[in-house]
Parts: sequence; C-alpha cells; structure tokens
Amino acid sequence: MRHVLVTGGAGFIGSNFVDLLLAETEAQVLVLDRLTYAGHVESLEAALASPRCRLVEGDIADAGLVDALFAQEPVDTVVNFAAESHVDRSIDGPDAFIHTNLVGTFRLLEAARSRFDGLEGAERERFRFLHVSTDEVYGTLGPEGAFHEDTPYAPNSPYAATKAGADHLVRAHRETFGLPTLITNCSNNYGPRQYPEKLLPLVLLNALEAKDLPIYGDGGQVRDWLHVEDHCRGILLALQSGQPGRKYNIGGNAERTNLEIVDALCDTLEALRPAAESPAMQARGVAAYRDLKTFVPDRPGHDRRYAIDATRVRSELGWEPRYELDAGLRQTVEWYLSHRAWCDAVQKEGTARSRRGLLDEA
Ligand code: NAD
Repeated sequence: MRHVLVTGGAGFIGSNFVDLLLAETEAQVLVLDRLTYAGHVESLEAALASPRCRLVEGDIADAGLVDALFAQEPVDTVVNFAAESHVDRSIDGPDAFIHTNLVGTFRLLEAARSRFDGLEGAERERFRFLHVSTDEVYGTLGPEGAFHEDTPYAPNSPYAATKAGADHLVRAHRETFGLPTLITNCSNNYGPRQYPEKLLPLVLLNALEAKDLPIYGDGGQVRDWLHVEDHCRGILLALQSGQPGRKYNIGGNAERTNLEIVDALCDTLEALRPAAESPAMQARGVAAYRDLKTFVPDRPGHDRRYAIDATRVRSELGWEPRYELDAGLRQTVEWYLSHRAWCDAVQKEGTARSRRGLLDEA
C-alpha cells in the first residue's frame, strides 16, 4: 500500500480513515471528493497539512476525470467511501444515490480494472480495491440473530438498494475480471466529524440549542453502534491482510435502541455541560435535556433492527473494537463541544437538521 486513492475522503468516515492512514502507514494519500453538502475541506484540515495528502475535487461518476487520475497517479489501492449516505434524502430524491453509489462505483471499478490489467509482478500483487458498504444491504432483523457475510441481501430503502447494487458490481468485477476487491459491511458509525443530519450530532447540537430532539416512531429501532476509529482500523486491517474476493462484516457489538442512544447522549451532555447552566434551556424553561425528546412520524420503510456478526473480521484479521460505547459517546460529545467552528462551517446552508424523507411532504 503505497499510493492510496480515498474517495469520499472529505466525509465523516473517509476523513477519519485518511487520518489513520497518515498516522499508521507511510502511504501517499490522494483524496477524490465531490465536496457535496456532506463533504468538507474542514474535515481534512489536519490531513492536508501533511505533504503526503492531496485533495482532488471531483465526481467518482465522471469517467474522464477518474480515468485521467488513474493515468496520472501510481494508485495501487482504492478505498471507496464516496456515497450519498443519508436514508431520508434517498426517499426524497433517489436519483443522486443512483448516480454516485451505483454509476460512480461502476466508473471507479472500470478505471481500476483498466489499471490493474496493465500491471505485472509485485505491482499486480499489491493492487487492492476496497469498497465500503453497510449492514443496511441485508434488510431488517427480528428480535434475534445477526447479519453474517452470507446473509442474503434484502435492501429496504433506495439508499440501501444502491449500496447493495454497488456491492454486486464489486463482486462481479472480482468474479468476472479478477480485480482484487474486498467489501466491508459495517453497522452504524458514530464519532467526530459526522454531518449533523445523522442521529448523534443532530441530537447533540439540538440539545445545545434547547431544540426538540426528534425520535422517529417509537424510538425502538435497534442499531449496532460502532466508533468510527474502530471501523477505520477494520478497513485498514482488511487492506493489509484481508483476502481479495472476501467480505468482512464490521460491528461494534453494542446494540441499543435509538431511544437508549438519545438518553445516553443527554446524560453525557448533562455531565459535561449541565442543562441547568444553559441559557438556551433556561430561556425555553426546560430543566433537563431528556425533556426535549419529541416523538415524530416514523421514516417510511424504517428497518427495525440491525446487528452484525463480526466473527470473521475478529478471527481472520484479529480485529477488536477499542471503544466501549459509553466511553466512545463521551469522546464524541467532547469532540463536538470543542469543535464548534467545524459544526458552524458544515452547517452553513442552514438545513442540515431539517426533517426529510416524509412521503406526504415530498
Ligand atoms: P458522508 O455522507 O459523511 O460522506 C460521503 C462523502 O462522499 C462526502 O465527502 C461527499 O462529498 C462524497 N461524495 C458524495 N458523492 C460523491 C461523488 N459523486 N464523487 C465523489 N465524492 C462524493 O458518508 P459517511 O458516513 O462518511 O459514509 C462513508 C461510506 O460508508 C459510505 O459509502 C456509506 O455508505 C458507508 N457507511 C456509512 C455508515 C455510517 O454509519 N455513517 C455505515 C455503514 C456504511
């Protein structure tokens, strides 16, 4: 791994992965990112200070641009994070998800294939294409069981369907063309630099402003929470010692309902920034962050439960999560409290925390 192309590297997980690459490898890192509403140069501030990291602004679905990049740069490793990633937005406008998640992944695969076909010897041995996917491709679980790598795909949202389609294209490029691909399917990530449309930062920033904390439906949806650094370490391990053609599920073994996560966040915030001392809470006349919880209509087609069986990544690659959930939540809350400039910068358009994905309002 000497020249790594990280697509979507200005987003939440991608930017954390770039930091990890710079800290733990000697690799040159080239970030390709379209800088959509979810991609921000501010997330790469530290990384871009390194002479080993560069950013190219562009679309993974732009064949001319992607082909030119592969022609100019000695890329030996591709890690594809670039995606439209928010389920609610995929309900309002699936087209962008088809464009990036399906067409974009296809374009990248084709450019990588063309490069791989021209390689020989050690360079050919070294080449890897890792596609970052989600547990949402597997659909929804009942109260028991967990997704393993052979669980049949049953995506329920346009987002999940496009991620599933991309996974199939990656698999096909391995089976048909011999491209050395890997796929990782992970559970819900949390941690620093997550765009505030997602549950954790949305709840946190709303609480700080004494705004309602929206709970979809009854809040009983179960997710398997994974700290972003643990996820990134799993991806790095898969690149370093994973077997091409193999899939790896990565999950934190930390199942919680959304309601439990929101309560845990409120309690962590109470400990670090008590509501009793918040002028916004006083102005609203609400005593505790938990009292801001507000039940709102559920997401159409909302999957009830996800859980990951991470046996393979643990046993074959020796991966172990380092963050226990409570400690990870505390670290995340502390990060948001101490990075208000980042929060302001990424929310410039002013609609990050608006409700989306309600069919009758579409
Ligand atoms: P994100 O929305 O924070 O970041 C996505 C990044 O991709 C942004 O920087 C955006 O600008 C960029 N991008 C979007 N369209 C692009 C295009 N056409 N060309 C180039 N760049 C483009 O997403 P994230 O949460 O960091 O997720 C990263 C990957 O991990 C995604 O593939 C997502 O499906 C997957 N994933 C995320 C989670 C999670 O909990 N966040 C869980 C499982 C899987």
